[in-house]
Amino acid sequence: MNHPQKPTDSGTLRAGWLIDGRGGKIQKNVSLRIQDGLIAAVAASDPALEEPAEVLNLTGYTILPCLVDSHVHLFMSGTSDLKIRARQLDAPFSEIKKVITRHIEAYLLSGVTAVRDGGDHHAHALRYRDECLDTDKTPFQLQVAGRAWHRPGRYGRLIGREPAAAGQLAEAIAAESAAIDHVKIVNSGLNSLMKFGHQTSPQFTLAEMRAAVKAARVKGLSVMVHANGKIPVEIAVSAGCRSIEHGFFMGKENLKKMAEKDIFWIPTAATMQAYCDHWERIGENPDVARRNLEHQMGQIAAARKLGVPIAVGTDAGSIGVQHGRGIIPELVILKQAGLPIQEAIRCATANGARLLNLPAPHVLSRGLPASFIVVKGSPDRLPDSLLSIQKICIQGIFYDSGKGMISGE
Ligand SMILES: [Zn+2]
Repeated sequence: MNHPQKPTDSGTLRAGWLIDGRGGKIQKNVSLRIQDGLIAAVAASDPALEEPAEVLNLTGYTILPCLVDSHVHLFMSGTSDLKIRARQLDAPFSEIKKVITRHIEAYLLSGVTAVRDGGDHHAHALRYRDECLDTDKTPFQLQVAGRAWHRPGRYGRLIGREPAAAGQLAEAIAAESAAIDHVKIVNSGLNSLMKFGHQTSPQFTLAEMRAAVKAARVKGLSVMVHANGKIPVEIAVSAGCRSIEHGFFMGKENLKKMAEKDIFWIPTAATMQAYCDHWERIGENPDVARRNLEHQMGQIAAARKLGVPIAVGTDAGSIGVQHGRGIIPELVILKQAGLPIQEAIRCATANGARLLNLPAPHVLSRGLPASFIVVKGSPDRLPDSLLSIQKICIQGIFYDSGKGMISGE
């Protein structure tokens, strides 16, 4: 890692507020003792017992675990400039690697230290992880799907490829030689932006999906499934996927099964907000996108009641969804759907870490790594205060912001 602010991984800080990442009650006025990069103690702050010169004073600040974005597409920028989008779709790696480095810098500036990539047609994110990401020099963790799988002739080319023949999905997964972190399967069309509630047919049968999940498991890989609508989601859930991506109009029965089977949901709801904004800007009618968003918020509220594990994923790279700060509108929507801020943050910390099976749980408590972000003001200012992260602490070492934390070229 480059340019640490304080060349020590031990010390004490006093924070105005602490969000633990588990969704627990927000703690006020706490002292955090850091030793050898770990949290040695968390206690109610008692200035009378502390030596002021040795304490980092963050009383006007909130600390929370580093964030995880569980659904991104690093190869594509969140621009609505269609010319740039068309270029990035098929640009060579030499060009896209610079784009990806910029995106990773944006993540670190927003306090996001781990992302799960949902695939790109040329597997540039996979190549970037292998050739450019120096994990000795950056705390950034990147998990990749390489290329997603879609049925011949159906939606998915921009993020993936098709098996050699229809009906051979499991064989294709088994034959994959790239060292991917998870398998991504596309099992429906895009959520309709023209016809409210329109559902597309599944791309794969239950038998095909079951065989695919099994083939992935043999390789120790979990499966993330892009699925909108009741039947496509039902197939993915019954087959034993690890997570449902998007899940627009999947319905309550699917949510119930997901809660029972501990299957994650990544609602990517802010994509609809971004479409609304985009269409308003260009003078088109944003009604269907707005109604999609409202419906998704209803599903989020139902999922919370049922106990479905939700992880924050932005689908960054989608029109108007920026890498890094795109996590803010997604958290805003979770809040609007009824999640208290500490629960919304949990979706972007502990839940993301569990979904990605990260080495650290992205939780702040005794004995765990002292890795957290510092934002100005009380938790009432979240998630907007994430727009200007004050500091990032990685295992006890402080950085001023995300800059200087990546070596990607
Ligand atoms: Zn996606």
